[in-house]
Amino acid sequence: MNAARGEPEALDAAELERASERLERASPAERLAFAVDTFGEGLLFTSSFGAQSGVLLHLWSRVAKDLPVVFIDTGFLFPETLAYRDALAERLGLDVRVVRPDIANADFVARWGDDVQRRDPDFCCGLNKVAPLAPLRAAARAWVSGLRRDQSRAREGVRVLERDGHLVRVHPLATLTKADVARYLAEHEIPEHPLVERRYLSIGCAPCTRPIAEGEDERAGRWAWTGKSECGLHARAPGDEPR
Ligand code: SF4
Repeated sequence: MNAARGEPEALDAAELERASERLERASPAERLAFAVDTFGEGLLFTSSFGAQSGVLLHLWSRVAKDLPVVFIDTGFLFPETLAYRDALAERLGLDVRVVRPDIANADFVARWGDDVQRRDPDFCCGLNKVAPLAPLRAAARAWVSGLRRDQSRAREGVRVLERDGHLVRVHPLATLTKADVARYLAEHEIPEHPLVERRYLSIGCAPCTRPIAEGEDERAGRWAWTGKSECGLHARAPGDEPR
């Protein structure tokens, strides 16, 4: 199972299932180390540098420091997120690669209106999030992200390893709880995203994020006026016209 770092190794469905089952009992660092050993430079790591990102970024800095962290700058992000990204990158010594949409943000707004997110968030996400990542996603063999089962109903079934087309999705934090995350951040003195104290517990683009109320899912403040819950879930092909 352990390929030399950087050498591709295919996992068939049965091997993937066995590895995922075994990694259920492993620590997040061990899960990430498995992914680095197995997929090497074929491992894609995207981070939003949001409220829940500190744990995985810290682990990445320990286990996979030579590999880049990909950050998608949609042009609609909170300035606090950009400042947090820069501060954490410097503190943890991360190699952050910023990817952006082909169209400048001002041109996007001028062309489709400043309420396009309200009318058609899948179109906006498709052009500003999904499309910029597409070449990196196509070239990757596995994709690491910080999904956790306790974040929302939609994420309850997240596995440590999952097949997603040609990619293996890797979720080192799948079994962690909100309390585990808080404990880890405190233990390693990782600063919080500055908007957390205003009850933004899942932070994406400014037009599509609101603070959450007591008792709501962490992700309840994302696209709260729609049934949409994930940025790429319903995205259509970039280039379609918005509704
Ligand atoms: S989260 Fe909102 S602003 Fe950001 S890309 Fe998606 S729809 Fe557009």
